Amino acid sequence: MRKTYDKIFKKRYLGYIEKGVTDEEAKKRAHEDALERRQEDLETGVQMIQYQINTLMTTNGQTPFVTIFMYLDETNEYIDEIALIIEEILKQRLRGIKNEQGVYVTPAFPKLIYVLDENNCLKGGKYDHITRLAVECSAKRMYPDYISAKIMRQNYEGNVFSPMGCRSFLSPWKNEKGEYVFESRFNQGVVSINLPQIGIIANGDEEKFWKLLDERLDLCFKALMCRHNRLLGTVSDVSPIHWQYGGIARLKKGEKIDKLLNCGFSTLSLGYIGVYEMTKLMKGVSHTTPEGKEFALRVMHYLRDTTDRWKKETGLGFALYGTPAESLCYRFARVDKERFGDIPDVTDKGYYTNSYHVDVREKITAFKKLRFESEFQTISSGGAISYVEIPNMRNNISALESLVKYMYDNIQYAEVNTKSDYCHECGFDGEIIINEDNEWECPNCGNKDHAKLTVTRRTCGYLGENFWNVGKTKEIKSRVLHM
Ligand SMILES: [Zn+2]
Repeated sequence: MRKTYDKIFKKRYLGYIEKGVTDEEAKKRAHEDALERRQEDLETGVQMIQYQINTLMTTNGQTPFVTIFMYLDETNEYIDEIALIIEEILKQRLRGIKNEQGVYVTPAFPKLIYVLDENNCLKGGKYDHITRLAVECSAKRMYPDYISAKIMRQNYEGNVFSPMGCRSFLSPWKNEKGEYVFESRFNQGVVSINLPQIGIIANGDEEKFWKLLDERLDLCFKALMCRHNRLLGTVSDVSPIHWQYGGIARLKKGEKIDKLLNCGFSTLSLGYIGVYEMTKLMKGVSHTTPEGKEFALRVMHYLRDTTDRWKKETGLGFALYGTPAESLCYRFARVDKERFGDIPDVTDKGYYTNSYHVDVREKITAFKKLRFESEFQTISSGGAISYVEIPNMRNNISALESLVKYMYDNIQYAEVNTKSDYCHECGFDGEIIINEDNEWECPNCGNKDHAKLTVTRRTCGYLGENFWNVGKTKEIKSRVLHM
């Protein structure tokens, strides 16, 4: 944008001078011309990115999983341009993207993350107007999600940085010059532990629980090391775009990638699922009760201490990670149901609850939920995201603004879920429902043909629009509103 401005200004200024316009007048007119042209470039540029990401397909036929991280960092020399770009991205997202029928719908990608800081947290800051636009956009299109720079600095040695993908946060790491590096780092893999299953087998016996947890953690460690050892010795030639041309690194041809695996530059994640079910099994209560919370936090700290210990012992970048579990939430529950039968609130639901999240069926206010989950999020520093489920709030933006303000002071990373669907059969633009047979159905015309429904839901950290397995569909159906 700055290059465009400078180029146009110079060209037009000389043009005006040639025509005999006074110097002052030439500067004024050239400035106006340059601003106009810069704005045009901005609009078409943002549009092009949005359309390219949504029309280009990767080889597996999915839209590329891209996240745009929008941070109004005033120490950045391009802050004025950054503010304009963020504003334009939000404006275009609010409008939506045209589907086959020419109707504007909610795109699932790129995911948008908006960082809240002192200058835009709706307390009279310089960029509050952009935050208001972001809130309006979330109310209609679910994105952007929000990161509190204030809380993030407390958790990551004063740094503010983008997650990898939807929710994976890297541990702070410094290069040989002593500078923090977050860009270009990567994950070697995730292994997730089935906490509810340990709860089922221990059946309320804490001694048994901790013993089994240790055994399972050993197994996770072995599985992660197996992956790490398998990667060792890989040469950069296996994927030049990643290892040679800068996707991740610029290694020489034939060079091994080992140095990027060994020093904590890349991470190995211990994932977990079902803190709610585990607590219910062990204590008979939800982890939102004082007794349940005490136990749940003890387990969370234990998991974290374990990954910290592994890190110390091996020098590798182990981290604790709230697995997205888009299909795992169903798989683990199904496996346990086959083995242990119907257990109320555990295997009878058809899914396990994501990470440390409050049971999706539990009635709790948005503010209380975020405050409660924040404590768990801090422990899960390898990645996690919290959400609140909201009704249509397009006519009550100020209520949503208070929620976003609350996020800034209380939680590092949060998102709001709303409904933004479309029926191609009758043109219905509202919430497509899940009927009694767990099928998606248009409430207006009864259409159940997936090919003629656009349903966009928060699968977890990402939006999804390609329909889900039966477990995830049941989980989505069970979600209660928090506002
Ligand atoms: Zn319809």
